[in-house]
Amino acid sequence: MNVAESQGLAGILEDAGWTKVQNKQDTDLLIFYTCCIRESAEDTVYGNIGAAKAIKKKNPNMIIALGGCMAQKKGTAEKIQRSYGHVDILFGTAHPYRLLDYIDEWQQKKTLYLATNGKRDMDITMPTLHDSKVFAKVNIMNGCDKFCTYCIVPFVRGREVSRNFDSIVEECKQLIQDGYKELTLIGQNVNSYKYNDKNFAQLLDTVSKLPGKFRVKFISPHPQDMSDEVVKLVANNQNVAKVVHLPLQSGSNRILKKMNRTYSRERFMDLVNNIRHNCPECSITTDIMVGFPTENENDFLDTLDIVNRAKFNSIFSFVYSIRSGTPAAKMEGQIDAATKKERIVQLIKLQSTIGQAHASNAVGKVYNALCVQYDNDKALCRTICDKLIILSKDSASIGEFVDIEVTANKNSNLIGKLYKRKII
Ligand code: SF4
Repeated sequence: MNVAESQGLAGILEDAGWTKVQNKQDTDLLIFYTCCIRESAEDTVYGNIGAAKAIKKKNPNMIIALGGCMAQKKGTAEKIQRSYGHVDILFGTAHPYRLLDYIDEWQQKKTLYLATNGKRDMDITMPTLHDSKVFAKVNIMNGCDKFCTYCIVPFVRGREVSRNFDSIVEECKQLIQDGYKELTLIGQNVNSYKYNDKNFAQLLDTVSKLPGKFRVKFISPHPQDMSDEVVKLVANNQNVAKVVHLPLQSGSNRILKKMNRTYSRERFMDLVNNIRHNCPECSITTDIMVGFPTENENDFLDTLDIVNRAKFNSIFSFVYSIRSGTPAAKMEGQIDAATKKERIVQLIKLQSTIGQAHASNAVGKVYNALCVQYDNDKALCRTICDKLIILSKDSASIGEFVDIEVTANKNSNLIGKLYKRKII
């Protein structure tokens, strides 16, 4: 979300005639567009803002802006006023597209300009400056109504607001015409998208049927809102990437309830089985948090059990850390650091074995893959089911779809060679 919105801010500035510089020291405008989902991210931002004071001292006309979730958080404005007097503009998540107005306002008054109120108007879009000619993120909704007890997002991004259906489809159509090959529909809860009578499945279906050679994926869906219709689109529509990121968080029903995750381990496994049944090649990835308050050995074993049974293609694993301002921060039964570390090590070890098995299974198979970037003498190519395969650089151009035979699995890195026109 923050990357996409930062690309929007860059687009607004470029349209207004601003240009990028290589060094912070040379800039007239320094924007920190922030995430505050973890307290450590916020601490890093404060460190960077503090360091910017010395730059501003040498270049007093430089404007410093702090935007995004952190700017919107309760208490940030007071803290900035109290301790970071060199910050000029504070703007939240509601109207990032008004950046030029904020700059004008500051230039007239030369005192801290605050824009941290209001509700997001998703019908206003930003002229995005994408950082790739192959991938593009398309924002379809903002905010979250779920209120998981560990998460600050609903408090800083507000309630769900979905973007105009036709405007999303138009943007996707233009991106495909401009040559983008992979579109990602993004939002805090993409599958709770609702605009008038249109839901997420209708949006995904419409985008995937636009003319052109491309794929579309989405992130992140919530298990509660994962419909059969969406699973069927993933399975049956050739332009929809065969990849579903389904955040589990915990395999214990007791902990899921404490997290307010609104699904059970049984419902989650039904979803996984449904996806695998309809689309056996689909890559299923997840987020797992260990050490949530009161998590005991049995709860953790329940998590390992689901990991074992779901055979995720990959997992993003986290150690729970206290996020002030959330209900979980005040819960009793916080878990000590050593136990959390022990659990995450076990989890990573288990997933590594599963990942190895997935990689070994791919050897000898042929995939159609999109060349996404070069890395020294290698071309990195991604299949529609999200496998990354390494080719020699002279085998494919960036943005080209090629057929690849996987020839080896080196420590879960798939190595391949060009295959002559035969696709599995
Ligand atoms: S679904 Fe839960 S974790 Fe995801 S953004 Fe909403 S509150 Fe946060």
